[in-house]
Amino acid sequence: MYCINCGVKLSDTEKSCPLCGTVPYHPDLVRTEADSLYPKNKYPKTKKVSRIGIMIAVSLIAVLPVIITLLCDLQINGRVSWSAYVIGAVLAGYISFVLPYWFKKPNPVVFVSLFFVMSGLYLLYVNLITNGDWFLSFAFPTTGAFGLIVTAVVTLTYYLKRGRLFIFGGAFILLGGYMPLMELFLSITFGTKFIWWSLYPMIPLTVLGLTLIFLGATPSARESMERKFFL
Ligand SMILES: [Zn+2]
Repeated sequence: MYCINCGVKLSDTEKSCPLCGTVPYHPDLVRTEADSLYPKNKYPKTKKVSRIGIMIAVSLIAVLPVIITLLCDLQINGRVSWSAYVIGAVLAGYISFVLPYWFKKPNPVVFVSLFFVMSGLYLLYVNLITNGDWFLSFAFPTTGAFGLIVTAVVTLTYYLKRGRLFIFGGAFILLGGYMPLMELFLSITFGTKFIWWSLYPMIPLTVLGLTLIFLGATPSARESMERKFFL
């Protein structure tokens, strides 16, 4: 049977033409049960792989370097020495990058903040085992401030869905302000001179941030930008 509208060949079981939607109907034609000539979906679904299976495989891959480094370290030094860095890094990486995927719908707010918490803990750990004194006056405030800015951006864009230009504009301005702060903590901790090199990244970041906020506040300017850059 053929479609009376577009002429495409139809299977006898077809209830309507897959191309133009015309209903083929002939009172004398007996409809038989047969396979459709065309697949129902344009792109048939591929076989689903088990998420849990992948998660278990990835977890095993993460455990492997831990065991190997631990064994090597114990063989060579007779105690846990440098393997502590590797184990700490693998653990921190696993918790921040792999753990979220055990959940069906990982919430980016949770795993971005988790990533910064884990980075902070890892730095603290390295600081403690090396008897350093740079954690409290440098690593903690700089990682913490950066983590807060990134987590705020992720949280706002995830829940608000609108006002992206204001969110990113604000974030760039905060990042600009973060630069002298980082230079300050560097000079406190490592005794480097405070020479305001931080102004060089700070100025363009602030300008970029203000531009985004300006574009967000003036729809006409935003439209002409979108037209110019085919956004
Ligand atoms: Zn047709």
